[in-house]
Formats: sequence, C-alpha cells, structure tokens
Amino acid sequence: MIVAANWKMNPELSVAAKLASDYCAASVAGVTRILFAPHPYLVPIGVRLEGSGILLGGQDCHPSAFGAHTGDVSTGMLRDCGASVVLLGHSERRADHGETSELVAAKAVQAFSSSLSVMICVGETLAEREAGNALATVLDQLAVSVPPTLPTTALTIAYEPVWAIGTGKVATAVEIAEMHLGIRGWLDEAGFDQTKILYGGSVKPGNAAEIFAVPHVDGALVGGASLIAADFDGICAAAAN
Ligand code: PEP
Repeated sequence: MIVAANWKMNPELSVAAKLASDYCAASVAGVTRILFAPHPYLVPIGVRLEGSGILLGGQDCHPSAFGAHTGDVSTGMLRDCGASVVLLGHSERRADHGETSELVAAKAVQAFSSSLSVMICVGETLAEREAGNALATVLDQLAVSVPPTLPTTALTIAYEPVWAIGTGKVATAVEIAEMHLGIRGWLDEAGFDQTKILYGGSVKPGNAAEIFAVPHVDGALVGGASLIAADFDGICAAAAN
C-alpha cells in the first residue's frame, strides 16, 4: 500500500517542519509513505525526513531540462533537492493552469529521464459523471497522459474524482470499485501490470478502511487530512491493516 500526502500550497514552514517530524514519529509497517511538499520546502523538509523511509516528492515539474521558464522547476532541480517522485496532472493544475494530458505526458518523460518516478492523477468532473462519461473520461486521460515508454514500476496512478477533492464528498465503494477495475484493465492491457492505483478525494481516518477494502485500491492520495498528523497517521494505519 502507498499513502501519499499532498500538502498543496500549505502550511507555513514552521508548521510544515513540525508536521514532517510528527509523520516520522509514527511507526507504519508495510506502507510506503510519500510527501509531496511545496517546492521551496523540499530541502528543509527533506532534512526532517532523513532516515524515516518517507519518500519526498515535488508537486509539479517543467517538461524541459533547463531554460527560460521563469517560475518553473525542472526535474533535475527536484532531484537535487531530494525528491524521488513527482506528482503530475493533479486536477488543480489541470483547472488552474490549463494543463493538458499531452503536457502531463511530456512532463512524465522528462521526470523519468531525471530518475524520478511519477504519480499521474486522473479523474472526472461531476458533469462528466452525471453524463455517464466517468470511465470514458478517465480512460481518455490515461491514454494521453501516460507515456507508453515509461517502465511500469516508475508509474503510479491516482484516481481522484474532481468532485470529491476537498469537498468532503467521497465516491461510494461501488463507484471506486468500477473505476479502479476499469483503470486496472487499461493498465494491464498497456503493459503497466506493476503500476499501483491510489484513490484520492476526501480520504479521512474514518473512511479509509472502507476505501482500502475495495478491490484494486492500492492506497490513497490525501490532501486536507494530510495536514493533521494524527489524521494522516490514522489513514496510514488503516492501510497497514
Ligand atoms: C488531493 O488534493 O489530491 C486530495 C485528494 O485532496 P483532499 O484529500 O483534500 O480531497
């Protein structure tokens, strides 16, 4: 199981440092923990994580190695700051920055060339689900976002229904099962048979066990609850069970 924390643009550095130390204090056997920290925090948070086994990740990268891209961050820079993984195609980046699946694929190729593994997010909007297009939307996103050349072990997929992110609404076990089965089938067909599939969208300690019991759910990507150490630990404990 994998449990990944997406801190997004939170919290202030002193709080972040304490949170990272609190993560380290929890003993979680059999669960891979990943922390996607804000880019300016990678180095100081990485220092806190040393020896904990928690992997450090960036929340985005540029598809080029270097260049005139003011404000952007390269995969080599992420690597140099201690990251071993990068989160790509989060719905907030797709919505706020107009990121396309083609761009996500280009970033994934660049990330792998810098020896970073990638976690690619996919998920439908409420309108797409209500129109009966949830699975088709997600499979279309996978087909374009996932570079066929990526090794299966360098890729993780996070299925995050957009309507469940930060809203407190969680997909039902049936909805999650249908989607994860569809994603599993697509991945296996495309040769990504070792790729894990995480669920994301208002995962909390109180609903984590039920979500982790769904077939083909290999863990969770956690936003809001990852900002409270006890909640993140509770989700990791549910994954360990
Ligand atoms: C996320 O942003 O990836 C996420 C799942 O957020 P939340 O847990 O707050 O819904």
